[in-house]
Amino acid sequence: MPLLELDHVSYSYHSKSGETYALSDISFQVEKGEFIAVTGPSGCGKSTLLSLISGLIAPNEGTIRLNGSSRYRETTNIGYMLQKDHLFEWRSVYRNVVLGLEIQHRLNEETDKHVREMLETYGLSRFADARPSELSGGMRQRAALIRTLALDPELLLLDEPFSALDFQTRLSVCDDVASILEKEKKTALLVTHDLSEAVSMADRVLVLSSRPARLRRILDIRYDKPKMTPLEKRSAPEFQKYFNLLWKELNAHE
Ligand code: ADP
Ligand code: MG
Repeated sequence: MPLLELDHVSYSYHSKSGETYALSDISFQVEKGEFIAVTGPSGCGKSTLLSLISGLIAPNEGTIRLNGSSRYRETTNIGYMLQKDHLFEWRSVYRNVVLGLEIQHRLNEETDKHVREMLETYGLSRFADARPSELSGGMRQRAALIRTLALDPELLLLDEPFSALDFQTRLSVCDDVASILEKEKKTALLVTHDLSEAVSMADRVLVLSSRPARLRRILDIRYDKPKMTPLEKRSAPEFQKYFNLLWKELNAHE
């Protein structure tokens, strides 16, 4: 059974100014442990897709199932990470990272240990008592990711989490995040308009059309050499091939 399953999902926003048809007839499945990138033109409905999966909004048509159930919203932890890291300056890094656990009344000896181990493993333990403003952009994104992982989500939704970072930082944070997700054996959907990011991080790339987003193509990404980091993949021969395929796919119909 796939972890996540979308079956003919459509969605329109209704507001006073009218109707915005955002997603049309989207179907796909995600297996446990997969890393999926979602790409498509700006404003096509990528963030809407993540909001639907997270359960913030419900589809007008079609169904979304997690572990076979469409009633997963009350029972399943879904991690949601956005472009802005939303770290609170008045809390230390540690207190930021455990915020979700506190809210859910799940901060105990065991979860505290897990958080401290992640801070250690991902190079932040020295900054546990620092304020977020003392961290670099890359460190802030790592802290935001640890906060998300602290809740032990079954599925991670990442909405352009690197787009506020400069190019250098972005390359190293991509490597960090990829290795963290692999080590923690997490399933993730990453929305990005950066094709290099999609091709260097994902197992599969979903290409959406302009609004209303339809699923135009699903591209399997495979590299001959196993266990390469996203940065290493960028200089592998397959990288350019997949990049060009995606580029053509996105520009063919615009
Ligand atoms: P993307 O993330 O691909 O840039 P979004 O999913 O954010 O696109 O938006 C898809 C479309 O839906 C856009 O035209 C956007 O203006 C519209 N939209 C997004 N959120 C709302 C909302 N809360 N109410 C009305 N329209 C919205
Ligand atoms: Mg968006």
